[in-house]
Amino acid sequence: MGLKLYNTLTRKKEEFVPITEGKVRLYTCGPTIYDFAHIGNFRAYMFEDLLKRYLIYRGFKVTHVMNLTDVDDKTIKASNEQKISLAEYTEKYKKAFFEDIDALNIDRADVYPAATDHIDEMVELVKKLLEKSYAYEVEGDIYFRISKFPDYGKLSHMDMSQLKSGARVSSDEYDKEAISDFALWKGWDEEDGDVFWETELGKGRPGWHIECSAMSSKYLGNHFDIHCGGVDNIFPHHENEIAQSEAANDETFVNYWLHNEHLIVEGRKMSKSFGNFYTLRDLMEKGYPGIAVRYLLLSTHYRMQLNFTMDGLEAAKGALERLWDFRDRVNDVTGTRDNPEAAELIEKSKKQFVESLDDDLNISPAMAAVFDFVRDINRLISEGNISQNDAQKVIETFDGFDSVLGLMQRPETDVDSEIEELIQKRNDARKNKDFATADKIRDDLLERGIVLEDTPQGTKWKKKL
Ligand code: AMP
Ligand code: ZN
Repeated sequence: MGLKLYNTLTRKKEEFVPITEGKVRLYTCGPTIYDFAHIGNFRAYMFEDLLKRYLIYRGFKVTHVMNLTDVDDKTIKASNEQKISLAEYTEKYKKAFFEDIDALNIDRADVYPAATDHIDEMVELVKKLLEKSYAYEVEGDIYFRISKFPDYGKLSHMDMSQLKSGARVSSDEYDKEAISDFALWKGWDEEDGDVFWETELGKGRPGWHIECSAMSSKYLGNHFDIHCGGVDNIFPHHENEIAQSEAANDETFVNYWLHNEHLIVEGRKMSKSFGNFYTLRDLMEKGYPGIAVRYLLLSTHYRMQLNFTMDGLEAAKGALERLWDFRDRVNDVTGTRDNPEAAELIEKSKKQFVESLDDDLNISPAMAAVFDFVRDINRLISEGNISQNDAQKVIETFDGFDSVLGLMQRPETDVDSEIEELIQKRNDARKNKDFATADKIRDDLLERGIVLEDTPQGTKWKKKL
């Protein structure tokens, strides 16, 4: 049994077979860097991180490309409003994006191509579409002629019979009511201010959709394995990408299209326009580390809606502490008598972990496998029924799971050395039988959320989340 993934194109779970054995070429639509991303956006990047990490766990070599949209209707509007250059405006949000993905322990892609660095590639692609009559010009704008591409609608499974031939839409984002020829290139107009390129297509700027076709081809080839995004990307963005790429290159663009469901708040998609969003920064200011947000976003299957609540985030903190405590506890095992039950538990948990994730990244039973493992090994430790040798293997297994889950990145505290000093003072006080001082140090630390634990290996401390 191998890995199965749900393909939006066929609406079926399919056995995953890469184009080149052992290798996966993966493209994921990245952020529009016009504002801080909200955690709904991060749900998409989290799911993609899980997918990529699991592919690696399964032994594939993954090449991952994520674009950065640094020119589109939204970025231009915002930079003009603030009267600063587009590059200056987007730089700030680009930096914030990378800080946020680090806080969420999301693995970096191999390449983050920015749209503004790939205007030439987009121009070439549009020229090709013009030559093949898939594109036409109207007063400086260039549109894709969808009536010439019979496969249009195959991803979103749309009924194309209502299509009004020749109707056009110029904005980057539009909904199903507006299926029509879409803009590949937008001739300059006053609203664009100083954002334009002088090219063979005239003075103007690219539409949003063309960037992903041009940049994915450049870094992954015209035909690659997996393309991801949120369900709102299916139409029009991904439908348009397929039309552009397949019309230009006469070959299949992507084999597997994967889409995550939305993060919702009280029944509605979390989004900037509804105003019902949290950025990661909002939550971190409230005292939730990025890793707790990671846990929350990770632990619901990517094709199910995830309802965001503060209670969910609280629960995530508790679950993380359980995992972290476990890792420390196994590390401290000193027993010498091997227990075959430990080896059995390792095999059982690995099997359930892989079988679950092989089933279209079915995360809930995979997490259950991890927590059952934690419970069962904890029992062996409490019974003193596990050797250091067993514990080493438990750690290898657990760290293998975590290479997929990425939950062991504990928030750094800048007070580490101060705490170590206080522990030293407390130990000195205890040696001198000055228990009042020793207890006071312990209580003061507890008030700051630092819990001390005296173990045979010395005094350990942890910060309560
Ligand atoms: P955008 O910057 O709007 O293009 O969105 C970036 C990514 O986030 C896309 O893949 C969207 O589909 C995804 N996305 C936006 N809102 C949500 C949400 N509430 N839940 C999950 N994914 C979302
Ligand atoms: Zn895209």
